[in-house]
Amino acid sequence: MSENQVKKGGISVETKNIFPVIKKWLYSDKDIFVRELVSNACDAITKHKRLVSLGETVSDGAPYRIDVTLDNDLGTLTFSDNGIGMNAEEIDKYINQIALSGAVDFIQKYEKADADAKAEGTGGIIGHFGLGFYSAFMIADKVEILSKSWHDDKAVLWKGTDEGDYEMSESDERTSRGTDIILHINDDEKEYASAFKIKEILDKFCAFMPEEIYFNELPEKEEPKKEGEEAAEKPEPKPINDTNPLWLKRPQDCTEEEYKEFYQKVFHDYREPLFWIHINADYPLNFKGILYFPKMENEFGNYEGQVKLYYNQVFVADNIKEVIPEYLLLLKGVLDCPELPLNVSRSYLQTNGYVSKISAHIVKKVGDKINALFNTEREKYEGMWDAVKLFVEYGCVRDQKFFEKVKNSVLYKTTAGKYLTLAEYADANEHFDKKVYYTDDKKQQAAYIAMFDKQNVPIVELDKLLDIQFVSTVEHAETDEKLKDVKFVRVDSGVSDILKEENREENKENNEKLAKFFEKTLNKGEHLKITCETLKDTTVPAFLGLSEESRRFADMMKLYGNGMSAGLPQELTLSLNLSNPLTQKLEQRVADGNEDELTEKLAKQVYLLALVAQRPLEADELSEFLALSSELYTRL
Ligand code: ADP
Repeated sequence: MSENQVKKGGISVETKNIFPVIKKWLYSDKDIFVRELVSNACDAITKHKRLVSLGETVSDGAPYRIDVTLDNDLGTLTFSDNGIGMNAEEIDKYINQIALSGAVDFIQKYEKADADAKAEGTGGIIGHFGLGFYSAFMIADKVEILSKSWHDDKAVLWKGTDEGDYEMSESDERTSRGTDIILHINDDEKEYASAFKIKEILDKFCAFMPEEIYFNELPEKEEPKKEGEEAAEKPEPKPINDTNPLWLKRPQDCTEEEYKEFYQKVFHDYREPLFWIHINADYPLNFKGILYFPKMENEFGNYEGQVKLYYNQVFVADNIKEVIPEYLLLLKGVLDCPELPLNVSRSYLQTNGYVSKISAHIVKKVGDKINALFNTEREKYEGMWDAVKLFVEYGCVRDQKFFEKVKNSVLYKTTAGKYLTLAEYADANEHFDKKVYYTDDKKQQAAYIAMFDKQNVPIVELDKLLDIQFVSTVEHAETDEKLKDVKFVRVDSGVSDILKEENREENKENNEKLAKFFEKTLNKGEHLKITCETLKDTTVPAFLGLSEESRRFADMMKLYGNGMSAGLPQELTLSLNLSNPLTQKLEQRVADGNEDELTEKLAKQVYLLALVAQRPLEADELSEFLALSSELYTRL
């Protein structure tokens, strides 16, 4: 092709047809054109490097670089590289024709898959289809390619429109090897004519690409000079990206400082991460990454992690749940999976064996790390347990395999501030009866906790919602004989044998009379069972208990039952404590037939005392309690 020869053409009927597809449908995220053009530039540089290393050509010594330039006067955005370049023949082959087969293939293969993905709201197709270059037309109605191939003397200028027409001619405008892709930004897409916007996109998609990327804005803004001042020296321009991200290094070569710095830079989180895992999986998985455990706030319901997925240092997407299990999305981190079949839809990823192997590998590594911390850095591990626990327990509830892996490293915090494993709990409790006593409200349940404290029974602290789901996983787990069928019971779930006096003298007849009298006086019918017990603790007149099962059931109904719990009768048991002097007096009075008004009031008071230890009183209960208290004192 000589200088005054211009080649014109239609890109091809099929290619023409793909423009509306590209513009409206292919990428739901328009910003992606930046990623596509910059990665093409990176690829072009890689190809040139390879030619040099093969001895096909020699390096001219100029450093490889990519420049993204926004020209405010011309309304253009240009992506320049000094890579391999293209001559007319190559442009014809790679740009004019390849789009055709790429697009037709794509449309036939993935049309349905992508429609599915869109319906799921996942943002459509991710990755390369050999259509990358054409994504430029999402924001530009005119695109030019000015390119000089490494093995040609002359540059070529290709001009294409979003109508699918192009023309190509020789050009003197470029004398050095490489390619400029010049986008004439559409009037409708002026938001892309903003340095802020472009920098933001570069930062998102290109922050770790392997070649240096510079952002420039034209015309250059002059720094306002103060009078009499010499022109300040321009600072050396810096690339916007880190070409050698930490995850590519060998873990043994990374320092703690580097890990923390990387975390803070990438996630803009100025708190230090608790710990991290550097994954460097070789063949056949071949992926790398760093996962950080952030300091989680207690309210983990509104906590959001962020795991960024890369494909050879090119950002693809955040939080792809097909690749990492949902509960690991609470972490923050980066994963670079060069083997991932990203040119497919997410529904395909879900059933892909490779993807599930990656996922399983990550789970294994996370489990290994938890176990390693537990086994070798117990003190440090205890120190971070409160923060790690949410994550570990959530993972255990969600994933049986993960639970099996880490179950022996799970700690329970006691009210005395100790951290015990289940096995250690069993050892620490000399009365261990296959029950783990817990509280989910230290203040409200203080009276019960005190009774267990007196018997040296450790009480573990559980959070109301998550922990209850978690302990039911533990209760159903396979385990050794000692911990088999272990049950978690709240301190107020009934009078435990541990709290009962072993040698007790009982007068069955009087006991029954006393229980009957309480039934009659309190008049709660079947909602309140009344029993007599002899407790070791003589200070409490009665113990109000709600069985663990019925409470868990009621809690579940509250959560999932759409208000159906409202009418649910609660099976409460009032256990009258025969070792308490007040209860003994009452028993005597009833035995003597002295069921007068004072005896009744005392019985009511005993009930209210037990109730106040169990839960906050309702308004009418509180008034009754206050009235009874002051009246009874005056009758001393
Ligand atoms: P893909 O990059 O997926 O192959 P593209 O449509 O983005 O698809 O590009 C098609 C081809 O055009 C590339 O494979 C490459 O050969 C060529 N190409 C694109 N951009 C450049 C560039 N900046 N320098 C050299 N060649 C390029």
